[in-house]
Amino acid sequence: MPSSKDGTMVILSSPSGAGKTTLVNLLSRQKNFETSISHTTRQPRPDEIPNKDYFFVNDIEFKRLINNQEFLEYAKVFNNYYGTTRTPIIDKLNKGKNVLFDIDWQGADQIKNKKLDYKLITFFILPPSKEILYERLSNRHMKDKLIVEERIQQFGRDVLHWINYDYVVINDELNNCYTKIKSLIDAEIKNGSKDYDRNYIRNHVEKLTS
Ligand code: ADP
Ligand code: 5GP
Repeated sequence: MPSSKDGTMVILSSPSGAGKTTLVNLLSRQKNFETSISHTTRQPRPDEIPNKDYFFVNDIEFKRLINNQEFLEYAKVFNNYYGTTRTPIIDKLNKGKNVLFDIDWQGADQIKNKKLDYKLITFFILPPSKEILYERLSNRHMKDKLIVEERIQQFGRDVLHWINYDYVVINDELNNCYTKIKSLIDAEIKNGSKDYDRNYIRNHVEKLTS
């Protein structure tokens, strides 16, 4: 039975390339924070470490996990499946660990709708501009222009989901963005005051999508 000593779930979502994986990695260095490791059917990138960045599995294994009802959430993103298995998350939360999730809006919706007895804070990360997003995606996928184009095309649809998140943060200078998220998490956990301007974000989204 969850209690007040339980950990908090912190979800970061964003359009691809805005920087959520980088931010989750930074946030996970804090004491008492751990990252949820997802299963995926996509191929590993050259710099990714299996069982650390993802559990890389084939379609058959992913379907087995679905059929066994092992997922807390799962979704199809860019033609591959991604999912979070339930048991490791609940174990961590019950031990008082805060768990960070780098998942898309579909997964965030599923976790929200489950209304688990653990505190949940959701963040949506935005790029400072579409041009900078293009640069970041191009740097990450130097050899694959098609992936960059696909993810830029998806941007306009993904960004609309900002409205369903507790907080939306612009990832311009990395350390400023990290500090902002960290202070919002601290304020949420300790019930402190929050420095957050939703109208500023609404205007930024209008600029990104015009
Ligand atoms: P996402 O997980 O949202 O798809 P990543 O965290 O992989 O995005 O970031 C995409 C690329 O942008 C990576 O190469 C990363 O190093 C870089 N990046 C992330 N945040 C910043 C930032 N604030 N300034 C410059 N580059 C960044
Ligand atoms: P990438 O292939 O760039 O690592 O991730 C693609 C997208 O899948 C990102 O938006 C990422 O947040 C999302 N993603 C990663 N793991 C999961 C997961 O377990 N569940 C869901 N729903 N999305 C995930």
